[in-house]
Amino acid sequence: VTEIALASPRRPRAGLGELLTVFRGHPSLTRSDVAEVTGLSRATVNQRLEALLAAGVIAPADGQAPRRGRPAERFAFNATRGILLLVDIGATGMRAALCDLSGGILQERFTPSSVTDGPEAVLPEVQGLFAQMLAATGHTPEEVEGIGLDVPGPVDFDAGLVISPPIMTGWDRYDIRGWFSRHYPCPVVVEKDANAMVFGEHRLIHPDVANMLYLKLGTGIGSGIIANGQIYRGADGAAGDIGHNQIPIRDDAPEPLCRCGNTGCVEAYAGGWAMVRDLQAAGLAITTVDQAVEAIKAGDPTAVRLARRTGRILGAALSDAVSLLNPRVVVLGGQLAAAEAHLYAGLREMIYRRSLPLATRHLQIIPSQLDRRAGVVGLGYLVADHVFDPVRVEQALSG
Ligand SMILES: [Zn+2]
Repeated sequence: VTEIALASPRRPRAGLGELLTVFRGHPSLTRSDVAEVTGLSRATVNQRLEALLAAGVIAPADGQAPRRGRPAERFAFNATRGILLLVDIGATGMRAALCDLSGGILQERFTPSSVTDGPEAVLPEVQGLFAQMLAATGHTPEEVEGIGLDVPGPVDFDAGLVISPPIMTGWDRYDIRGWFSRHYPCPVVVEKDANAMVFGEHRLIHPDVANMLYLKLGTGIGSGIIANGQIYRGADGAAGDIGHNQIPIRDDAPEPLCRCGNTGCVEAYAGGWAMVRDLQAAGLAITTVDQAVEAIKAGDPTAVRLARRTGRILGAALSDAVSLLNPRVVVLGGQLAAAEAHLYAGLREMIYRRSLPLATRHLQIIPSQLDRRAGVVGLGYLVADHVFDPVRVEQALSG
């Protein structure tokens, strides 16, 4: 009997932390709603609501200001009590955002930046954008409740450290949290870029899709995995690093050297940097991934041929991931994803040819709807979840 009671969704959610999570999942709730959702007694509901109101984490809902002599009827998560600061650091540029505590973005900034300059050069640039956005919205550093940062490299999520990144010179095990603690007294979340991106697409665009994959086609190639509604990071945070899988290509050419030091990686054939390399070798005056995409879209025959080959190579790599993970949706994002038609044809062809019918019968392969904002959108939800983790809230409110 005890086990059944514990497993029941109607079991009383005892803590303030879990009650706040209930509020974060609803636009607003009455006292009766709370009793209904949690199974708590009316007296306990009143007591818990008082505690959450006193802490300022919930407030009377909009338009429901208490009438004189009567308590408020509806309550909502207080998303405007503080702010979050986020930055999506790419290989060649960074996008920063300021959002409310529910992850709703209020300000955004983009600036070109080279991640290979190292953290001592890049983090002051991030802080510059953060300071600009705080000034523009009239907020102070004390109001910042959480910071989120994503990077194009492997991350030990729990430790908040970048670990042995192939391209991020100087970032290996750099104390990012320590750096920000000089400016802000709040938690700092460090995440791999593709994980932040898949989380943004999942929470904002595909909230009902519990299993999905995001393929980031930028300067490099990476992927983020949502499994059963959660980011799947693997045992050490290295899950999804599809760009450095080896891919057998049947031709006589030597395997291309990858930025990671190995040869024959997916990204050494099909990454943005590899596409620039191959177009240059073919005599085109191209130096950036965006220029490569422009050449493909303009119908340059060499660029189009290369895009189709790139699509087939990506499709071969992705078909392994589809067979292994059986996602419902594969989202294609990053600069190269803009080369749509020419890239997608080869990619789809390879996935449907190589994956089992059961894994592909409901599979959707679609372009990112958040496009270049996916990273900061995902970070907003990720940092909010971290700051309002039930255990953390419980400790803060009872201690
Ligand atoms: Zn590699």
